[in-house]
Amino acid sequence: MLASRLESLQRAGVQQLGRVLPPPVAKPVAAAVSTPPPARPAAPPRPAIEAPMPRRLAAPAPALHSLLGQPYPADLPDSAADRQRLLDELNEQVRPCLLCRELASTRKQTVFGVGNPQPRVAFFGEAPGADEDRLGEPFVGRAGQLLTKIIEACGWQRSDVYILNVLKCRPPENRTPLPNEVDHCRPFFERQFEILRPEYIVCAGSVAAQSLLETTEAVGKLRGRMHRYRDSRVLVTYHPSYLLRNPDAKKYVWDDMQMLLKEMGLPVPKRKQE
Ligand code: URA
Repeated sequence: MLASRLESLQRAGVQQLGRVLPPPVAKPVAAAVSTPPPARPAAPPRPAIEAPMPRRLAAPAPALHSLLGQPYPADLPDSAADRQRLLDELNEQVRPCLLCRELASTRKQTVFGVGNPQPRVAFFGEAPGADEDRLGEPFVGRAGQLLTKIIEACGWQRSDVYILNVLKCRPPENRTPLPNEVDHCRPFFERQFEILRPEYIVCAGSVAAQSLLETTEAVGKLRGRMHRYRDSRVLVTYHPSYLLRNPDAKKYVWDDMQMLLKEMGLPVPKRKQE
């Protein structure tokens, strides 16, 4: 487990844990996948078939070297242009990633993230779907249109916030991400948050919430209070895809967004009836 986590971090270009990375050096893909560094411990064999990520695990295992409680590094560039440059450089590392063989062979493209590089709020989803895979932008399909409505109901535009997912590749048939796929993408989304340092992160759905907060609690248990990831305050709410299937749950999401706006010291707009 540790060896495989270290291996995935190393392959993603992470050279130190819990520290700011120097600007990433693009690796040739062939070298990244076939030339192990000499001192690395042998990785355990990967199981041929892996179970889907369970909604609740039997026993929560605290992640080794968790960044959850660590402050964001203080010495990162702050201007929007510098942050965008760092995001672009990270995206160049994400693009050729082959760590998840199945996803790399079925995706049309990776889907990195979009929006304001100096956001007060970042929206964190699960993984690209078919529309996102085709267009290369998160939350542009039906669920994305609903997310956009939620953002606009708060008085913002999509371009005011940052939008990203746990996984950067579409899982086939939109299946739930596997635990090792989340492990592979973790250095990427952790680095995105380090660059963005949003005041607030809204986790849409259980995969985003459980991956970020390193918990097995269900959304129903996690919503209604603020959590913390590094220096960001974290709100958990239902995923827009869940709302498409369960429109009655929209009222809970609106309650959550009202709580967020109050926490942010912003006026709470009246909810438009659909
Ligand atoms: N669902 C997600 O979680 N993310 C997307 O980008 C689209 C749908």
